Formats: sequence, C-alpha cells, structure tokens
Amino acid sequence: MSKGIVYLVGAGPGDPGLVTLRARELIESADVLVHDCLAHPGLLKWRRADCEVHCVGEKPGPRALPQDRIEALLVGKAGEGKRVVRLNGGDPFVFDRGGEEARALAEHGIPFEVVPGVTAALAAGACAGIPLTHRDTGPAVVFLNGREDPRGKNSVDWRACAKLKNTTLAIYMGTARLAEILRELIAGGLAPGTPAAAVQWASLGRQRSVAGAAADLAERVARAGLSSPAIVFVGESVARRAAIDWFERLPLFGRRVAITRDRDRNSELRGRLEALGAEVVELPLITVTKDVDRLALVEILAGLGSYDWIVFTSANGARFFFEEFFKGFDDVRSLGLLRFACVGRATAREVERHHLKVECMPSAATGESLAGALIATGSLDNAKIIVATGSLNRDALVKKLEGARAIVDLLPLYKTEKTDLAGDPAADDFRRNGADAILFASSSAAQSFAGQAGALRTAPGARRPLAGSIGGRTSATMREAGIPVDFEAGTATLDALVEALIERLNGRGGV
Ligand code: SAH
Repeated sequence: MSKGIVYLVGAGPGDPGLVTLRARELIESADVLVHDCLAHPGLLKWRRADCEVHCVGEKPGPRALPQDRIEALLVGKAGEGKRVVRLNGGDPFVFDRGGEEARALAEHGIPFEVVPGVTAALAAGACAGIPLTHRDTGPAVVFLNGREDPRGKNSVDWRACAKLKNTTLAIYMGTARLAEILRELIAGGLAPGTPAAAVQWASLGRQRSVAGAAADLAERVARAGLSSPAIVFVGESVARRAAIDWFERLPLFGRRVAITRDRDRNSELRGRLEALGAEVVELPLITVTKDVDRLALVEILAGLGSYDWIVFTSANGARFFFEEFFKGFDDVRSLGLLRFACVGRATAREVERHHLKVECMPSAATGESLAGALIATGSLDNAKIIVATGSLNRDALVKKLEGARAIVDLLPLYKTEKTDLAGDPAADDFRRNGADAILFASSSAAQSFAGQAGALRTAPGARRPLAGSIGGRTSATMREAGIPVDFEAGTATLDALVEALIERLNGRGGV
C-alpha cells in the first residue's frame, strides 16, 4: 500500500476564485477532504465523485469536532494510504490550527505539505478598498488575535500596540470584544480619531463593512449588527478607502439573487453574478441526468456518414453527445462531414471545445428560431438530420424541419426532472431570508418552483424576490403557474438576463 499524505491547504477568505492553483489541483485529486463550516460550497464541488468528505465544524466559533479528534482523523486516513486534503480558511498558519496539525503529523511520521492561502486580512483590505500598507501613511501592518480578554494574560498587549507609529492593525476574531480592545488601544495612547473599519464576510457577496474612528467604531459595528467573521482595521490607511472601495460599488453588491438551474449549470451563472458583487442562493430546481436511448445511439453512430446535420438544443445535449461519441471513436474525423447547428452560444461552446465549427445558430435562442435558421441555410429537402434531445424538448423544432422535408432522427440523451428541495439548506435560507430576485432560465425550473411553492414561500419579514425570466417561453410558463414576471431578458441569453436583473434592481426596466 502506498503511503498516505496530508495536505494542509489554505482555503482563502471565501470566494473560490481566491484559492491557489495548487489548492484546486489537490482538492480535485483528494481521496479524503476535511473542511470546516466556512468552506465555500464552490470549493467542495471540485472534488472527485468518490471523495470522502468530513465536515469538522458546524458553525463559526467552537469546532464541532475537538482538535485532537481532527488530528486523529488526519493521521488515521493518511495511515490508510489516502491522499488527505485538510482545508483551513484563509492561511493554515495564520490564527489557525495548521501548526498543531503539522506537528501531530510529524510526530506520527505522516508525510505532509502546507499550501498557503489568502488570509482574511488581505482579502478584507482588498475588497474594502483599504491598502494595508501605504507609502505615505503606513510602512507597517500587524495581524492580531482579538479573541482573548484584552486585559487577560494570554491577550495581545494592546497598550503596546497603540504606540506603534504609522501601522495598520488588522484584528482577527475581534468583534465580540471590540469595545474593550479599542478602549485599551486609546488608553495606550492611540488618538481616538484614528480611522477604523470592520469588514465582515470579505470577498463574498454578503460582505458588509462599517467605518468610523477608534472612539466610535464599536458602537457603529453593534448598531449595524456586524459580527463574526470580520476583520477590524485601525490606522491612517483606513481613510484611503473612501476613494477606492471598488467592491462595494459593483452593480449587484449587497443584492441576494436566487438561481434555479440544475447544479452543474448553476455554477456558471453563479460565477457571473458573484463577479458583479451579488450574494447567490442556489436553488437547483431541476436535475439533468444523462439518459441515453442506446438503440438510437448505436444506429446513429453506425450510420454517421449518412447525416448532413446534427442539431443541439441545449448545452447538456451537446456535452452528452460528445461523451458518448468518444466512447465509441477515438478520432474526431469519424464525424465525417456532419455539420453542427446549435440553439445558442452556451451550446455552441460545447461543440467548439472540440475544435469543430458551428455553422448554424439563430439570433434568438429558441427551438423554432433554430429550425428557421436551418431552413435558411438552403434546401433541407431529403437532408438527414440528427436532433439531440432531452425528455422535455418540445417537438416544434422537429415538426418545422419535417415540414421542410428533412428526414429527422431523434437522439434522446438526457432527462430533466424536478428536484424536491425540501430539507435543502439553501432552500431553507431562501425561505427564512428571502432574496432580491429569483431567476428562471427555463420553463421546467418555473414549473418545479410552482410545484413546491409552499416549501419555498418566503417567511414574513423576509425579502420578497422579484422574478426574472430568460425569455418569452419561460415567461409564459411562469404566468400560467402563477409566478408574476417582474423582468425579462431582451434576448434569451444569460448575459441578457443578468443585464435585465441589474436594470430592474437599479430602478430601471421591467415588464
Ligand atoms: N486562518 C484564517 C483565520 C482563522 S480565524 C485566515 O488566515 O484568514 C477566523 C477569523 O478570521 C474570523 O473570526 C475573522 O476574524 C477572520 N475571517 C475569516 N474569513 C473572513 C472573511 N471572509 N471576512 C472577514 N474576516 C474573516
């Protein structure tokens, strides 16, 4: 049996885009993943399907599993010959247990590596527009742990810190004792007017920040209801933020947006919304699973050379087709002279990733327009066409092609099913806290939502979401199902849907 290894990996401050490439590679190849509650779900998605996952902390603060049990878990799993990835928020060696865990591993003779991460203070500085050092105002920065009683034996010597000139203090775990800490700093000689700020959930859509002075920050933080996890900054550099707090000026900053596609497809939309500053709640109302009609597949693949076109009405269809094709053939030239027609950009990308050209794509991403665009390429009389489909595809496309005298063979590749979200933590969060908007990118998602409206009804006092639709067909289904359409994308693309969302939330647009 090969010897196991443990990787102590910095998971960064929250946004999955802020982990290192090494961290991602290790998550992708891990046999066992050990993480705590602050780990972003986006990081966990990179794991292999058969990876064993242990969550060792339920919520911020006291860990659910005592530290010695975590160490025993790491030692035990590596002892079984596994590749173990231990994710620690931020950097494993900054106010975390990385040092203790490394030592336990060394004592047991278990090989290990430490992968650094973006520590919370760096992310909070970057995303709140607070340069931790600055040529004019601050040549020094100090990371401090604010958890202990500020006057207790194990605490930072705050009065001594107050004497550090031109220094930015970055205080971790300090919100609970903030008033006492700031009082100690001022008692040590810090000017009460020194700029100070607290940044909660840095780098995420739910980031919030409060600024003030050393003398009044604690009160402002309490009034705003800011709590852990947050970084508190004290120092002249904090004043720089007024001009450069880029993150909080993003068009969707502070907005909660629920998205309703299947889990795989949700991540692309999630990324776009988060890049615009939104906090995203994922409600995967539909599940798309590969469900290939084997007989049709075998016949079509055997006679590939006789077809003129293959038509994809969804990115899933294109993806599943190529997966199946490459199981049977190891040379892309076996596709012969087959031409590709795709309903829209996202679908075309799945074809183009194989360096194949898409020769037909309509301007509006609907089945009917796609049929129209195909007909416009020339005579379909007697043309042989494969239409890759899912279980819910409408036959309008096929009828139109057959009307143009094409010979159509259907290739069913997947099924779309409603997902029951009862008991899903994201659905629970949606019910309790609501959202500013909910986006529907398909009729099936809208139907699934309506079918479980009771379970997804927002609680009294929660933000009631505006409902947005990707296009006419989805809007019609929404209205039929009793979901009012508050805004609709100009064209049936995710980009246009996001654009309509921004316009609507910022006070313009609507249906
Ligand atoms: N090893 C971590 C720190 C763990 S201690 C690191 O390097 O960042 C936990 C503290 O980190 C929290 O109490 C808070 O002070 C800070 N923290 C972690 N994530 C944060 C975030 N996204 N925004 C603000 N503070 C955060």
